[in-house]
Formats: sequence, structure tokens, C-alpha cells
Amino acid sequence: MKTLLKNARILKMDDTPLFIGNIVVIDDKIAYLGSMSSVYAPFDFVHDCHGNVLMPGFKNAHSHSAMTFLRSKADGFPLHDWLFDVVFPRENLLQPDDVYHLSKVAFLEYLTSGITACFDQYYFPLMSAKAAQEMGMRILLLGTYNDPEELMRLYHQINGTNDSLVRYCFGLHAEYTATPEEIAALNQAIHTLKAPFYVHICETKSEVEDCFNRRDMSPVAFFEKEGLFDYGGGAYHCIYLDDHDVEIFQKHHLNIVACFGSNSKLASGLIPLEKYRDAGLNIALGTDGPASNNCLDMFKEMTLAFSLTKLANQNADSLSAYEILKMATVNGAKAMNLVNCDILEVGKKADIIEIDLAKPNMQPLNNIIDNIVYSGSKENIAMTMINGKILYEKGRFFVGEPLENIYNKCQEVTDRIEKELQKRQ
Ligand SMILES: [Zn+2]
Repeated sequence: MKTLLKNARILKMDDTPLFIGNIVVIDDKIAYLGSMSSVYAPFDFVHDCHGNVLMPGFKNAHSHSAMTFLRSKADGFPLHDWLFDVVFPRENLLQPDDVYHLSKVAFLEYLTSGITACFDQYYFPLMSAKAAQEMGMRILLLGTYNDPEELMRLYHQINGTNDSLVRYCFGLHAEYTATPEEIAALNQAIHTLKAPFYVHICETKSEVEDCFNRRDMSPVAFFEKEGLFDYGGGAYHCIYLDDHDVEIFQKHHLNIVACFGSNSKLASGLIPLEKYRDAGLNIALGTDGPASNNCLDMFKEMTLAFSLTKLANQNADSLSAYEILKMATVNGAKAMNLVNCDILEVGKKADIIEIDLAKPNMQPLNNIIDNIVYSGSKENIAMTMINGKILYEKGRFFVGEPLENIYNKCQEVTDRIEKELQKRQ
């Protein structure tokens, strides 16, 4: 399949300025990028961008996609009560098939927001993988098992083919839910395969205080002591890192995944983004799950990232729009080890989004990058392409299944779980 995306403003996100040109996509990869695409003619499909921006898709570096069934189910709780009283009792009733159906709704939402890859952590990860593969979503799964052999088997099985949409890595939910068996299994798998490790960390003040009370050290220091960060990785939230924690992040080149929407809504705290950037850490953005955010939108995350950081520092110049855009794209790809689709370049995977400039919020074109970050929204996503396939264009989805089926299944699962829960109470 040979596709021409023509008449575009191309933003490669490799620090080169925007330029006018065309992109040729052959199958799943970018084959050409520049002004002379005719040598590749004839094309199977031609898409005219009418001067719109083509750029790499957003990377949602932290989510729990299948938590769509808990969206707007219990808002107004702090993290601990929300997790233990609302989330866990319902998650106990999840069946593997539920995760397959529930993930699909999140994937649709990602497409509308220009998200071309997600870092997903949830129960029954192979069911999310199945949904992602069927719909064409790129997904990095995170698995926790008590058995190191099972962890390594899945790692080899899923990462065995370089071209797969689905990748697998190791990690845990958090220090406060981790069992010694899980930690031992992960330790063995991580050291055998020299693999990175990812975890929720320092999301709330009480999480850190409790860890100090239990272990006399921070969660970051604990995981380092256990050797789980020996081959890098990263952590989500990272609101309450102390100076020693930051040193550990620097030493192991750990990635920070900031989740502004979730942290604001649960009133968990504000991540000191500037401090971590100045420490030289790679910072990515994640929506977290649809139960705690509740929306899966990178424009919203970018808005919160610059608004809250500038406000906290009382400095309008503390982060540039381009830095924010990098966090949502290139830095996310780095954190997720998806270097094959981080920027627009020949040979990279064709994970491309089109930003519609023919909307009032993008006019005039004084500074297109500032327009995208400070004024952009989902309404500006004209097209989302993953692995060379257009999955979303101007409000229409091309995911091989009617939307009603996906929505109905999600509602069915949601209703069934509520009924089961009522019966048990
Ligand atoms: Zn999370």
C-alpha cells in the first residue's frame, strides 16, 4: 500500500523547523519526506492535507485503558478512598473478555485526540493487546506476575517480532500493593533479560510517608535497593520525589511520566516539572486511566502541564510550547522505548497525525507550534494514522467495527459489574 500525504506543513519534531512538503508512506513506514514525491507515483491513495500540519502522533505514556467502565463512577474522592472503596471492589469482578471490550472505547478516544500509542497497565493485558491489534492501536503493555518464567515467556512471545503493534515490559502497580513474590519474580526476569522497570511512584504524600514508616526509605530508594531499576525504566506521577530520589532517577536514566489531569482531579499534588527538567530527566505525559482523569486527551494534558507549571512557578516563561509538545510526543516515545515512531523520518513507522489549521482556534498563523499547544484541542485532529493506516479522519473511524457495538458492549459490562456488586453487598 503506497499512500501520498500531500500539501502539508511537516513538523518532524526533531528540532528542525516546519516546512512545506509531502510524505510518502509505504505499508507501515515513512518512505519519503520532502517536496519531490512524484518519483514514488503511482499511489494507491492520495490524501490532500490542504496546508495542515503533519506531525508524529501523541504518546500517552501512562494509562489504564480498560478502566472506561469506571469513568465518572466515583468522582470527588482522594486517591486512597477512590482506589480501595470504589475501584478495587469493581475490578475484582472483571472477566478477561471485559478488558477486551472496555479497552476499545479508550482506543477510540485516543484516536480522536491524536494519540497513536499508549502505555497500558491493567489486568489481563493480553486482552487489551487483542483489542489493540484488531483496531490497529499501538500499545505497550505492562505485566505483573508472581512467576518469573511466565513474565519471561510473555516478554519473548510479545516482543519476539519487531513489527508488532504490541510491546511488553515489566512493572508493578506500586510499592504499597506489591507482594514480595511479585518483586522477586520481577527481579529475576529483569536481570535475566536486562529489561527496564516501570511503576506508580510518589503519587501522594501519604504513600511516601507510609513507605518511610514501613521500610525507612522512600519508594524510589526501595525499588533501587531491590535492583528493579538496574536496567532503567521509569515511573508515573513522581510528585513527591526528594533530592535523593532525583539522584536515583538521574543515575538510572529513569523516565518521569507526569499525569496532570489525574493528579489534579484526585488532588494528589503538583509535579515539579521544572525541577525535574533542570535535573536533565526525560519527562513524558500520560492521561492515567479514564476513571481518574476522566478524559483521555493529550491536548488537555498539555494545557494542564503548562498552566499549572507556570502558575506554580509564577513564571510565564518557565516552559516553552515546544518543550510541552516534545513531552507529548518524542519524550513519550523515549519513555516507552518506541524509538521507531518518535519523529517523522524516513524509515520510521508511519504514526502520523494531521492538525487542522482551518479552524478559528488556529488562525492566524503567527506561531503554529504555540497555536497547537496553547490553543489546540481535539477538534484540530483531522486525521490519525497508525502503522501506515488511517484509523480516524474528520470524525469518522476506520476500525473494522461499528461504534455502536463497542459502546453497547462497554455499557453491558459496566451494568453487569454494578449488578454483581449490589448482589454481594
Ligand atoms: Zn495509573
